[in-house]
Amino acid sequence: MSNKLLIEEIKARAKSLTELLSPCILCPHMCAVDRAGGELGECGVGFGATIASAVPHFGEEPEISGKRGSGTIFFSGCNLHCCYCQNSQISQNPRPIKGDSVKEIVDAMISLKARGCHNINWVTPSHIAPFAVLALAIARSQGMDLPIVYNSSGYDGLECLKLLDGIVDIYLADLRYSDDDCAAEFSLAPNYVSASRAAVLEMARQVGTDNPIGADGTLERGLIIRLLVLPNDLSGVADTLYFIKENLGTSVRIALMAQYFPAYKASNELLLSRPTSFREYSKIVDLADKMGFSNALIQEHASAEFYRPNFEKEKEPFEDIKHFIKRG
Ligand code: SF4
Repeated sequence: MSNKLLIEEIKARAKSLTELLSPCILCPHMCAVDRAGGELGECGVGFGATIASAVPHFGEEPEISGKRGSGTIFFSGCNLHCCYCQNSQISQNPRPIKGDSVKEIVDAMISLKARGCHNINWVTPSHIAPFAVLALAIARSQGMDLPIVYNSSGYDGLECLKLLDGIVDIYLADLRYSDDDCAAEFSLAPNYVSASRAAVLEMARQVGTDNPIGADGTLERGLIIRLLVLPNDLSGVADTLYFIKENLGTSVRIALMAQYFPAYKASNELLLSRPTSFREYSKIVDLADKMGFSNALIQEHASAEFYRPNFEKEKEPFEDIKHFIKRG
């Protein structure tokens, strides 16, 4: 069962997180806009959060999806602007905040628990964390006792993460680049490398890197680092693997992702206008193997043909998925 703080403590954390919104220093963009006063920063989201989709999802890593699915809540907007974003329908055109954001999140969590999901999976929460945490305090008081998965691009502020210590049970985070020029050009996040590496180390400090799988086949606590292999080595995954090995060892869970395809504006970028080749992906899988990573998940190279969500179908955005494969 998840590591649960007292409800009053979770509410106090939500209050401290809310204070980071005006001026907004919630994420490493540090826009310093007054979100409570209606100003918008890089993420384009004001004072609240909008749910784009809340569904059981079976395409996450097996220790997250299990047999009954992960209770994913996809939030509208994002603090990154990746030109290849597969979720651009919801991430790059934030939906307006209407009604009571917190109540909507509470209702979604309660409903996903009732549908039998193993956990609640906040997808892209970095810019709306205060509202998700306040909703969690209320949901916990209503008996929602599932573990919380924080599923982010890795571009998270340390101050924000420290306030999530003991609230988040499982971190599912990207380390998407090892070169800031690439991060600036393709995701508009010039300090991504140092910010995401510091974030992942803080996540590991909180939840550890070597947690066992529970009786139902899912993680109740832990960290999974996602490494998306971009074409033409733009994500620099080899360098990231060396960083992980040096700082967290080789038993940390990693997911090597082959599912890149040129979505959103990527077909206009010469170096991103094709899927990652089999050779490019295999090279990374072999390197992780040689380096001794013992908890690596891999994807079939054909995954790029499948993982293409359509958020116009809010209740079923993921029709075609390919499951991860355990190495070894
Ligand atoms: S959460 Fe949004 S407004 Fe706040 S610093 Fe990040 S991008 Fe800027």
